[in-house]
Amino acid sequence: MTILGPVLIVIATVAAMEFVAYATHRWIMHGPLGWGWHESHHEAHDDDHGIFEKNDLYAVVFTILSIGLFAIGSAWWPPLWWIAVGMAVYGVLYFIVHDGLVHQRWPFRHVPRRGYLRRLYQAHRLHHAVEGRDDCVSFGFLYAPPVDGLKADLKRSGVLAKRASAHRDAWNPETQDRI
Ligand SMILES: [Zn+2]
Ligand SMILES: [Zn+2]
Repeated sequence: MTILGPVLIVIATVAAMEFVAYATHRWIMHGPLGWGWHESHHEAHDDDHGIFEKNDLYAVVFTILSIGLFAIGSAWWPPLWWIAVGMAVYGVLYFIVHDGLVHQRWPFRHVPRRGYLRRLYQAHRLHHAVEGRDDCVSFGFLYAPPVDGLKADLKRSGVLAKRASAHRDAWNPETQDRI
């Protein structure tokens, strides 16, 4: 293989993984089957729980899959090895955007103020604006639809109004950093 083949495989795998992650997040993690692990990520955190969440087990599963593909790929079929590289690259990007930028699970604070990273950041904050597993918006991690559309979806479903009446500190769309 020339270098072009592997590069294309890695890029295609990263793109495909966004679809896989979206589908897994929307229909498995927010479904009856997977909520048991994912719920830990939607709960308010206190220091008693340490730095890990049950939800991190999903990352462990994807890491095991990637390691398996590395093993099979190096033994039998090199393209599979490059697919595994793509999965690993996706994992790193997911960590940077989701765990790092949005949830600050790294030792410094950086909130993107403009551009596409800002949109990704806001979209995932809106994902967490809804309590529980139903009526959530924005399930992707590296792709996010325009934020205004997500806010409109939340408004339409009425879920934030319900939340606002249940809590005194009503969600304010202008200061969504407080979510
Ligand atoms: Zn979620
Ligand atoms: Zn999150």
